[in-house]
Amino acid sequence: MVSCLDDLPITELKGVGEKVAEKLKRLNIVSVADMLFHLPFRHEDRSTLLPIGALQPGQASLFEGRIELAEVVFRGRRSMLLRLSDDTGFINIRFFHFSNSQKQMFKRGQWLRCYGDVRSAGNGAGLGVVHPEYQLITLAQRGQFEKGLLAVYPVTEGVNQTTIRKLLAQAFHLLQQGARVRELLPEALSIDKGFPSLIDSLQQLHYPETMPSEDVSETPAFKRLITEELLAHHLSLSRLKAGLQTYPAPCFKSKELLPQRFLQQLGFSLTAAQQRVVAEISGDLALNQPMQRLLQGDVGSGKTVVAALAALSAIEAGYQVALMAPTELLAEQHLANFKTWLEPLGIKVACLLGRHKGKENELTLDDIRLGGSDIVIGTQALFQQKVEFCKLGLVIIDEQHRFGVQQRLALRDKGLLGGMQPHQLVMTATPIPRTLAMLGYADLDLSIIDELPPGRTAVTTSVLSVVKRQLIIERIKQGVADGRQVYWVCTLVEESEVLQCQAAEVAAELLRSCLPELNIGLVHGRMKAEEKQAMMTSFKAHAMHILVATTVIEVGVDVPNASLMIIENAERLGLAQLHQLRGRVGRGQRASHCVLMYKGPLSENANERLSIMRETTDGFKIAQKDMQLRGPGELLGKRQAGFMRFKVADVERDAVVLESLAEMADETLQHQPQLVEPLIHRWLGNSVEYAQV
Ligand code: ADP
Ligand code: MG
Repeated sequence: MVSCLDDLPITELKGVGEKVAEKLKRLNIVSVADMLFHLPFRHEDRSTLLPIGALQPGQASLFEGRIELAEVVFRGRRSMLLRLSDDTGFINIRFFHFSNSQKQMFKRGQWLRCYGDVRSAGNGAGLGVVHPEYQLITLAQRGQFEKGLLAVYPVTEGVNQTTIRKLLAQAFHLLQQGARVRELLPEALSIDKGFPSLIDSLQQLHYPETMPSEDVSETPAFKRLITEELLAHHLSLSRLKAGLQTYPAPCFKSKELLPQRFLQQLGFSLTAAQQRVVAEISGDLALNQPMQRLLQGDVGSGKTVVAALAALSAIEAGYQVALMAPTELLAEQHLANFKTWLEPLGIKVACLLGRHKGKENELTLDDIRLGGSDIVIGTQALFQQKVEFCKLGLVIIDEQHRFGVQQRLALRDKGLLGGMQPHQLVMTATPIPRTLAMLGYADLDLSIIDELPPGRTAVTTSVLSVVKRQLIIERIKQGVADGRQVYWVCTLVEESEVLQCQAAEVAAELLRSCLPELNIGLVHGRMKAEEKQAMMTSFKAHAMHILVATTVIEVGVDVPNASLMIIENAERLGLAQLHQLRGRVGRGQRASHCVLMYKGPLSENANERLSIMRETTDGFKIAQKDMQLRGPGELLGKRQAGFMRFKVADVERDAVVLESLAEMADETLQHQPQLVEPLIHRWLGNSVEYAQV
């Protein structure tokens, strides 16, 4: 019977009962086809049996020998020592972990076949191997073994190499008997790229004829699987996007009156990049399908104004807007901005924060429900069940990297009224390398502000040891004398907010004692939101010279006159966070400066991070480096990382494949839509569930 291994449960293989099946599931192996996609991470050359006399240190080798001596020794640590010989030489075998039954088996005269890393034991003691793989053999079995390359697989507790090898042998046997695995790459594409068939690819990856080189990912067989996997991820996100567009959205064919009046009173004109993205957004909003757009722009590039313009189009058309920020501090700052900008135009701005309670909050909620508020600014509180909008037409999410796909979807559902769906604008300052963005945000269209407002001067960055603290204090004095304001940022690697706040308090005290003539404020996460806000307002109004802060100021805070920033323990922060923090300065006309203070000795990685910060302010370069240092999953944030757990692909290494992914996905969707579902199922399996929310 010809069967399809994709549909054949793994329990159909010999030796797989419920227990083993449960364990295999941990390796994401459910069907026999999954087994075939469980690829080895390396191969070992088991084709040459070396005489002991020919063994070389530093090489993994296969050899056979007779036990000449077996003893338990106590040299520092208890261990089992065997001395093997085959008449060409001697070698020592050592086991630090061994059972009684092993002790029984290792008898003088017993032959062993071993495979392991041969090392020189030093000071003339000859060669040795610690914990080799071994097999007891009889004299007659000498030299009788299956020659070739042995694949080594990822294993899990209770499923060892031998089990996996046996199961794979069965699976390949089924293939020889005519069973199939589904070809899910469109044939034209496969031919175009010169890929071998799926079965041939799998055969080559599990049982290569010659030892694979280091660069196995360059082989057509591997490339085929990489392509398949990346395509599956891309398609799953495209499907998500299509799912988001099942409902129509209201069209905002703006008469452009409000936006024009807004721009006139703004006091500056938009940069070319801002104008471009505003046009892209207006284009989307004029369609009756929901916009799903990611607005990416480096810190300080002026995303807020763009958001305000989008909001105005919606409001002018008679709809409400929700603007969600990741922190209360940032929400309050947006509130202040939008009030100044929009209230003169007769627009009603409301605010919803977690801490708002009681009667006043009820009134706000009523107002939102009845359509009295035009724009509602808030934190996650906007998700709460009791928040009901009258006519939500646009959802804006600021600093997207703090939220996940699910939150994005939850807010969309808030607006699902009368079968209409609100438009969505997602903003982020986290620069993401283009190729990664194409995958991680494939459900969103991308607009990029690639230009800073004029008159900004680049921030120069210096890296200083904490030992030079006095120098820094002098620099602050000088800066303040020049009319500058200063951020002093305290960071701790421990996520403990309490410790972080204590550190900030200590730092503030210390600064007050060194600089008694200056006004020094303090803002940290454990302060009440009103206190934080009051502190920020007073800093912004130049009522103080220095603001000591924890990383609460990381996102969005905007005080153009602050042009000097000192970051304590900078060596402990990741690049993305350093870049975000540094983005708080360099916002005014004046040349800004950032001092990264560290406590030595620096690890190589930390050293590299600090150097890159000193060398560039280009968010994209920093992101690229960040991806190299940390891996792509991290960069997209935890929630996104679910999409980014790859079996064979590596977003950085396989960037070339990513380049043509969108095209391949379109091709597949158009000509072979029946492949989409199985592809996603094969590669994303269970993890796809939340992508369908
Ligand atoms: P981000 O993109 O980091 O959210 P903001 O929207 O907070 O940046 O803008 C940073 C600062 O730049 C704000 O003070 C804003 O008013 C100002 N700004 C924005 N666009 C322009 C422009 N075209 N010309 C001058 N200043 C601008
Ligand atoms: Mg912002």
